[in-house]
Amino acid sequence: MISSKFEYRKPTNVDEAVELYGEFEGSAVYLSGGTDLVPRMKLGLEKPRAVIDLKAIDSLSVLEDQGQWIKIGSEVRIFDLKQNELIQDLFPALASSLEATSCETLQMRGTIGGNLLQNCRCLFYNQSEFWRRSKGFCLKMGGEKCNAVPGAKTCFANYCSDNAPSLCTLSAEVELSGPKGQRRISLEELYTNKADKPFDIQPGEILTAIFVPKKKTIGDYEKLRVRCAIDYPLLGVAFSLVDGTGKLAVGAIGPKPIVVELGESPKQSVKEAVKGVLDQVRPVNNTVLDREYRKRMISIMAERLVNKVMEGAK
Ligand SMILES: Cc1cc2nc3c(=O)[nH]c(=O)nc-3n(C[C@H](O)[C@H](O)[C@H](O)COP(=O)(O)OP(=O)(O)OC[C@H]3O[C@@H](n4cnc5c(N)ncnc54)[C@H](O)[C@@H]3O)c2cc1C
Repeated sequence: MISSKFEYRKPTNVDEAVELYGEFEGSAVYLSGGTDLVPRMKLGLEKPRAVIDLKAIDSLSVLEDQGQWIKIGSEVRIFDLKQNELIQDLFPALASSLEATSCETLQMRGTIGGNLLQNCRCLFYNQSEFWRRSKGFCLKMGGEKCNAVPGAKTCFANYCSDNAPSLCTLSAEVELSGPKGQRRISLEELYTNKADKPFDIQPGEILTAIFVPKKKTIGDYEKLRVRCAIDYPLLGVAFSLVDGTGKLAVGAIGPKPIVVELGESPKQSVKEAVKGVLDQVRPVNNTVLDREYRKRMISIMAERLVNKVMEGAK
């Protein structure tokens, strides 16, 4: 499959990148590692006039200890991040989800910013244009129906970032720069909860950095997938204990991670907290695993994970 024609630009600072976006009147996309974007372009899911490569912007590749926060530039590669000693020491849930992300070849190319902004996926959407046309375009393609759930008025694609759940358990924040200036919001606020437009990002905004509170935490991440070698998560569960308080996040089963507080006794509260998660998820048969199985695995994986981390903490 060949993507449609586009112009390629490689700015060296954020302002220049934002300006370039404006020049193409919004018909431009930002490129980081390209491991999500390029396949989407080849499938004809994106047909931009211009691709603006962010890799030459040095300020986006910085990882620094700012005292109260660890700042992670959006262009930091997953492989480099998972090997960073500070990340391994302070944020074991994140280190674990980075390790679980796809395979090392992809980790060496894919960035943390691109990982968070990867688009939602569905068996009926991530297909060739020929395939999609024969089925009839779905809601996520600007059509009027859902091919996964006939009659549905909402899109059911899944947001499959492995690292979003773990960053949510660490109360991470994200910084965005765009035509209207800079803003900083919690990672949870980035999500719209709508799979056809998953991010609350304004046209031209660049995710410049992720900020994680600098606190020593314990935690871990568990991932459900068919092949451990490379697959996307079909369910991902992260848990972190920060300042004695537990947080659990469940991802890859809907358009955003679902985050619940576990308080000071995570082992005791996890069962009840999972009920809250189960009330919110609406898995459908749009992955290679059955929806009932994925739903059932939430409590199994969450309880197993929390118990394992808390037992290890003794
Ligand atoms: C075979 C395969 C397996 C995969 N397995 C996994 C997996 O197991 N777990 C997982 O989490 N992901 C997986 N992915 C998805 C994806 O490749 C990774 O998440 C990767 O980290 C994406 O980062 P990237 O830098 O390549 O993003 P890109 O492809 O460059 O960008 C992703 C999206 O974000 C936008 N974007 C990128 N950077 C910015 C920025 N700084 N500001 C604003 N917009 C931006 C792009 O326009 C694009 O829409 C897989 C992909 C493939 C092809």
